[in-house]
Amino acid sequence: MKGRKLLMIPGPIEFEPEVLSALGAPTTSHVAPNFIQSFGNALRMMKKVWLAPTGQAFIMAGTGTLAMDMAGSNLIEKGDRALVISTGYFGLRYAELLKRYGAEVTVLEAPMGDVVSLEVIENELKNKSYKLLTFTHVDTSTAVLVDPKPIGALAQKYNVLSILDGVCSVAGEEIRQEEWGIDVVLTASQKAIGVPPGLALLVASTKAMEVWKNRKTPVANYYSDWANWLPIMQAYELGNPSYFGTPAVNLVMALEKSLEIILQEGMEIRFARHHKMATAFREALKAIGLKSIPLRDEISASTLSAPYYPNGIIGNQFLQNVNQEGVILAGGLLPSIKNDYFRIGHMGSINRADTLSTIGAIEVSLKRGGFIFEEGAGMKAAQKVLG
Ligand code: PMP
Repeated sequence: MKGRKLLMIPGPIEFEPEVLSALGAPTTSHVAPNFIQSFGNALRMMKKVWLAPTGQAFIMAGTGTLAMDMAGSNLIEKGDRALVISTGYFGLRYAELLKRYGAEVTVLEAPMGDVVSLEVIENELKNKSYKLLTFTHVDTSTAVLVDPKPIGALAQKYNVLSILDGVCSVAGEEIRQEEWGIDVVLTASQKAIGVPPGLALLVASTKAMEVWKNRKTPVANYYSDWANWLPIMQAYELGNPSYFGTPAVNLVMALEKSLEIILQEGMEIRFARHHKMATAFREALKAIGLKSIPLRDEISASTLSAPYYPNGIIGNQFLQNVNQEGVILAGGLLPSIKNDYFRIGHMGSINRADTLSTIGAIEVSLKRGGFIFEEGAGMKAAQKVLG
């Protein structure tokens, strides 16, 4: 494949050939028996990947932001209080989104590279009553990882609905939605789920669905309203045709294939593989002498890394050099430090060869940019982790 480059950005990612074949298959009717079967399978498998056996799964044409919008618009009524726990760009997006639906939003913003402490969160929940809280499992702008388990427990303790933005984590970071008591876990297809961009995915708890059913006012977003989509998801899961808006037929078939691949690997092995690859990247970056945005290893994502450029390295030139080496990386995203760091996505079918090629391309490009370090130190550190 002359000219093919290794796509190592935090979404979209490299996709499995079988997933791409499903995408390229002849499009069938959205009410054809084989498509109904695929849609139903995908809904059932989502609950296994999310570890939410009694949850309600939704598959929609749209991006991750639509999944955020669907959860927000269905659960918020004008005047409800919402607590947004933010670790970067996407936390702040959720705050803006919820305000559109009339929520009174309080934002707890983490210091750069850190998380909001559980004491601060608990204090807020103790002093003010909230209808829901949101948090970003991995904020793709900072690579900061938030531990969902204690936040789920706090939400339960204070009877607050919890929404986890898992766009950069589902099927990569450990999530046990039901065991951890998280009410909505949402994502998009193009990251660790392993399907080209275009699907918004979420699983809602029984409690979230009850809260929605007991709303006093109509959902302010016509397209996202669960009243339109719940009967469709239920019908497809039962093997019956149904229509509200035309499903993204080929993307759903690709999703079915990707979920099969994910479950074949097994969730525990998949979480461990992501963790190992991330550790290899982290150790390599440290050995080269690069600092990353997350302040500690325990709050560093398994799905991406966000290292600062060392002194003297010009971001655009570095990324171009990496590209010439055959690897595509992403620039910074957080507006205040956008030009000071870059991002490496390492999720989905990421393997040892991808990891080592990327580290090699980074080393060569840093050297070309004039940065002085022990050449090969990153490769050596990564290989030590990879065994
Ligand atoms: N949340 C997070 C954590 C994300 O990383 C992204 C996308 N990078 C989004 C939400 C929004 O997803 P989309 O771009 O698919 O709308």
